[in-house]
Amino acid sequence: MGNDRVKEEALQILALFEVLPRLIVFDLDYTIWPLYCECHSSKEIPPLYPHARGILYALNAKGIDAAVASRSPTPKIAKAFLNNLGLHSMFVAQEIFSSSSHKTEHFRRIQNQTGVPFKSMLFFDDEDRNIQEVSKMGVTSVYVRNGVNLENLKLGLTNFSRNPPTSVDRRR
Ligand SMILES: [Mg+2]
Repeated sequence: MGNDRVKEEALQILALFEVLPRLIVFDLDYTIWPLYCECHSSKEIPPLYPHARGILYALNAKGIDAAVASRSPTPKIAKAFLNNLGLHSMFVAQEIFSSSSHKTEHFRRIQNQTGVPFKSMLFFDDEDRNIQEVSKMGVTSVYVRNGVNLENLKLGLTNFSRNPPTSVDRRR
């Protein structure tokens, strides 16, 4: 399925939900791309999971912000990859630093930067411990096994709509 087709299908999925997240946060390694960027050169253009780009385009078209929360020990390579892929400008916040906390510090920083409440965020990651810790903050968090795709986008939006933010949280 090409990027345009994925984008169209993602937009159709988004249209199914009355309440949508204000911000969708993505891990990078094994969520957006199928590799650890620390094992590569910053000059490379890494492969993406097949649905990743189309989903980001759909969020952009729908006016839903996206952000990055990565514990990569090589933020320079991660940022170079986003640049090389032409995706750098798709993210309103990019928190990329190694940390012994399971991304709770990443999410505090993202909230400070964006002003979006945790309850209005949706998060995708391939590490269960990150999912568990970030969930406790109130973020709807989805474990992905083979990268972000249309199926887990729909699952995430379903879970989000079951635990919607209060009207105060939803106010911008
Ligand atoms: Mg990962």
